[in-house]
This record gives sequence, C-alpha cells and structure tokens, in this order.
Amino acid sequence: MQEELLNSVIKLTKTRDVNSLEYSLVTTLHEFIQCKEIAVYKDMQDSGQRIIERSLVLHFSDEKRYHWEDNCFIEEPEPELISCLQSACIITVQSSDGIEQRWLPISIFDKPIVAIKLVTKPLNSSQQVLLNAFCRIYENYLTILNENERDKLTGLLNRQTFESRFKQLLEKQVMSKKVIAKDKNARKRHPESCSWLAMVDIDHFKLVNDSYGHVCGDEVLLILAQQMRSFFRASDLIFRFGGEEFVLIFEPCLQEDIKEKMTTFMDHIRSITFPFVEQLTVSVGMAKISPYDFPISVLENADKALYYAKNNGRDQMHFFDDLLNEGLLNNQEPEADDDNVDLF
Ligand code: GH3
Ligand code: MG
Ligand code: MG
Repeated sequence: MQEELLNSVIKLTKTRDVNSLEYSLVTTLHEFIQCKEIAVYKDMQDSGQRIIERSLVLHFSDEKRYHWEDNCFIEEPEPELISCLQSACIITVQSSDGIEQRWLPISIFDKPIVAIKLVTKPLNSSQQVLLNAFCRIYENYLTILNENERDKLTGLLNRQTFESRFKQLLEKQVMSKKVIAKDKNARKRHPESCSWLAMVDIDHFKLVNDSYGHVCGDEVLLILAQQMRSFFRASDLIFRFGGEEFVLIFEPCLQEDIKEKMTTFMDHIRSITFPFVEQLTVSVGMAKISPYDFPISVLENADKALYYAKNNGRDQMHFFDDLLNEGLLNNQEPEADDDNVDLF
C-alpha cells in the first residue's frame, strides 16, 4: 500500500500542465477509492457572474466499465457545488440508498477555484484521510503550476500563457453569452460589446535604465504592474509581454467605454510619482477581439496601432480599426532603431 501510494504521488507530480494534472488526480483517486463518479469543476468567474466548467468526469457503471465525458459548461450548478466554492468547506450529502456525494474545495492563494466531486459508497476514515491528502497534494502542485504562468518580477501573467488564456477567454465568453441569455437577472451586455486587447509600451524606458540603472528600471516596472493590477478589474487579463511591454485583455464592452477607461489609465500613470523618474508615459495600441479571431492576428493589429502611436509622438492611444478606416496604416516606415514586437 505504501509503495502504491508513493508511486501515485510520483505520477501526480510528474505532470507539467493543469489538464494532465486533473486527469492524473482523477485516475489516482479511482485507484484508491471505488467511485461511481469523479468530476472536476472549475469556477471561471466572469465579471462577478459564476461560470462553472466541468473539465473532467469519469463515470463507472460497475467496477470494470467506465466512461469519460468531455468538458462542458454547467448552466445550473448543484447548490452543494456552489456552497463548496463559496465556503471553501467539504460538503457531503448522503442519499437514502447510502450513496454519498462529496464536494472538496481546491484553493489557489486562498481562493477556492476548483471543486472535486466524488460519488461513492460511504467512506471509512482512512479513505477520507487519503482523499483529503491527495486533494492537498493536488492543490499545492496546482499552485506551483500557476506560479509558472507568472512573470517573476511583476507577478503578472507571462507571455507563454497568452495563447491558452486568450482561447479560454473566448470560450468563456461564448458560454457566458448563453448563460446570460437564459438568466433574466444577469447584467445584460450591449449587443455591440466586444473584447479588447491593449498593447501598452513604456515611452523611452531605455532612458530610465541608462540614467538611473537597471535596478531603478525594475522598480518602475514593478510599480507600473501594481498600478495596472489595482486599476483594472480582477477579471481583466494582464500580461508582461516583454521588457517594458504589457498586453491586457478586457472583457466585452463598447469601444467608447474602453477608450474612456484607457484614457483615464494613461492620465493616472502620468500623475504618479515614480522613484527617480519625474513622469512616465505609455503608448497604447488597441485591437478588437472577435469570437473567432486568432490570437496572433489580434496581437499584430494592436502592434500596428502601437507602432503608429510611437511614430506619431508617443504618449497616445490608437485603435487599429480607426487607423485602418482612416487610411493611416499605409506607408508606416519603420524607425531606424525600432525594435518591433516579435510575435512568437
Ligand atoms: P520607446 O518609447 O520607443 O518604446 O523607447 P524605449 O526606450 O522604451 O524602447 P526600447 O525598445 O528602445 O528599450 C526598451 C528598454 O527596456 C531596453 C531594455 O534595457 C529595457 N528593459 C527590458 N527588460 C527590462 C527589465 O526587465 N528590467 C529593466 N530595468 N529594463 C528592461
Ligand atoms: Mg518602450
Ligand atoms: Mg518596447
């Protein structure tokens, strides 16, 4: 038993991505606890709206026969699942035929974001201890995998995670539209709302490094990142893309609203006193995200708008579609010493 346990822990911690980790957890739990069902639910909050994805489920008809089901969004989550995610407590319900349903919360940085559901015959105390221990190992390892998605200096999401986060966001939005359409009380979005991507680049940052040194430059980057985190919503995605370049993805809203938000942000950054640097400005390129866009093409559009801002005096924001409609994107000559954003 001890050897089996150790092998399972080794197997569980061998994985390098969140999806394989979930799969490993489910198969490991099944090895030690006879279940009728094991499922993994994820809370993918979208502007306060709870969007629950069941990312994995394993059903057993008997000891030998089982089937996996594909991931799906849950339109009407069970109340016990919601209680588990809200309270971060294990919820157990026993039916009259003695079958137990159990929801176990998994938290990252003290926030419950995953719930594991097990349907079993009543578990004895050693099975419960084992189950809890595996959930804690999974939780710790999930935290490490999440840390790997973050930039070491600023704690923002790193560039490597951009593509998968972008796709997740689009999937979530398609789903959220369906949920909102069904829920009469949900906050309705304007039909012309869409997601937006902002590419933000500090103006003349090289001068900061050259004048005050790299350590001061790092501190400026850190403060800017903190300002972005507190200024924008928790549900907006903020990436550090390169040295002094950041990419933000906003949830659906109208162009005029995001324009106002970004203008206020640029004003806010101008008004902050950074160490050594009297005033810092940023240039911003904005691009619309349509549901079936490729991440690379949205990035390219935002990059062109940013490039236009840099070539036309910096400290300004431009929208790709506006520049295109006004015919301002033709004949953009690269600056001699410009380092274009290299896209993957
Ligand atoms: P522009 O207005 O055209 O964007 O000019 P810039 O000086 O901001 O841009 P440029 O691309 O010429 O220089 C970017 C500088 O960012 C050069 C590099 O030393 C600095 N940098 C990149 N990564 C880091 C980092 O992690 N820490 C610090 N301190 N500096 C960094
Ligand atoms: Mg720059
Ligand atoms: Mg740059």
